[in-house]
Amino acid sequence: MSVLLLAGSLLATVILWLWGFPFFFLFLFIPLIPQVWKERKVRSCPVCGFSTTDGKVAFCPYDGTPLTDVQSP
Ligand SMILES: [Zn+2]
Repeated sequence: MSVLLLAGSLLATVILWLWGFPFFFLFLFIPLIPQVWKERKVRSCPVCGFSTTDGKVAFCPYDGTPLTDVQSP
């Protein structure tokens, strides 16, 4: 998953570089892309409101309810 993200980022960089984009600018953002992705993936419990950004947590630790995805604005 992360390897695919890295490969995709590098590919996008090469394509934009060929277009004349300042690639050094993009290199500043490439390490941030997976973090932004991770930050947006917030899941919460519809019963008690428990929320987490940990993708490995699939169920609420308090009542065992399956967590649901929360859409960020
Ligand atoms: Zn809960």
